[in-house]
Amino acid sequence: MKSAQHASLISQFAEVVGADHVLTADEAISAHLADWRRRYRGAAICVVRPASTAEVAAVVRACAQVGVAMVPQGGNTSLCGAATPAPEGDAVLISLSRLRRVRAIDPANNTMTVEAGCVLQTLQEAAAQAGRLFPLSLAAEGSCQIGGNLSTNAGGVQVLRYGNTRELTLGLEVVLPSGEIWDGLRGLRKDNTGYDLKQLFIGAEGTLGIITAAVLKLFPLPRATATAWLAIASPTQAVRLLGDLQARFGALLTACELVSDLALGLVRKHFPGSQASFSA
Ligand SMILES: Cc1cc2nc3c(=O)[nH]c(=O)nc-3n(C[C@H](O)[C@H](O)[C@H](O)COP(=O)(O)OP(=O)(O)OC[C@H]3O[C@@H](n4cnc5c(N)ncnc54)[C@H](O)[C@@H]3O)c2cc1C
Repeated sequence: MKSAQHASLISQFAEVVGADHVLTADEAISAHLADWRRRYRGAAICVVRPASTAEVAAVVRACAQVGVAMVPQGGNTSLCGAATPAPEGDAVLISLSRLRRVRAIDPANNTMTVEAGCVLQTLQEAAAQAGRLFPLSLAAEGSCQIGGNLSTNAGGVQVLRYGNTRELTLGLEVVLPSGEIWDGLRGLRKDNTGYDLKQLFIGAEGTLGIITAAVLKLFPLPRATATAWLAIASPTQAVRLLGDLQARFGALLTACELVSDLALGLVRKHFPGSQASFSA
């Protein structure tokens, strides 16, 4: 019975997204079913790869009609198992990686409207080409997607100045669990209309809907940056130092990261040729 239901779902998906984008073969889906550190491994009815909001909505509607669970997946970099389906194999994995259009960049309004599957680094580059900064930056930026950043409310290294992904977001487009599309793609900063529903979906890890597009804030490109590498003896000293730096530089201070001796030791061990900058 279940296998008939699964087969029917697979053929409905094929009609919506094309058979090439409904993956069932082990070798095609295995990378989607585990996290990068191989700590979690799951199973799925199939991996479906819609290319537009309308296709995501049609896939969600088909799942909702028969009560089948869905797991949205972006770049699969979050390392805590939330993008991995459960081992029972009763869920459909929806990959957002084909929703990768930058729909619009508006330098006058300092915004860009982008689809959920855009890789973070491509958005930083698109903003820079328009003479603007999109400040979200983290080590997974070459493969994580903005939909995943929004769904985890990612922070990255420039939180001190620009805030988490939530603070960088003006509007969202979301496919709800029913398959309806919620259009909240607004670029207005002074927006005080009613409930701010987008906040529910940011950081919700896909539990309330699938984010398909977002309006993001852009900033002026910094003319110059300077990085200082300081040796300190304790986290208490680091907190004091941060306070001093904030008092002197205010909003000009973009990042302050505490790197432990243990972490530096691992870098020295695993990256041949790297050297200790300071003696102990
Ligand atoms: C090396 C490394 C460094 C990192 N550094 C930082 C850091 O400095 N700061 C920080 O905050 N985080 C950091 N992270 C974690 C980071 O938040 C995630 O890697 C990234 O934001 C997840 O994006 P993703 O596209 O890979 O999402 P995935 O891992 O694919 O998914 C993450 C969650 O979001 C859901 N999801 C994905 N796409 C959508 C969507 N379109 N709609 C609804 N739900 C969706 C998934 O179901 C899952 O629950 C780091 C990760 C790595 C690997």
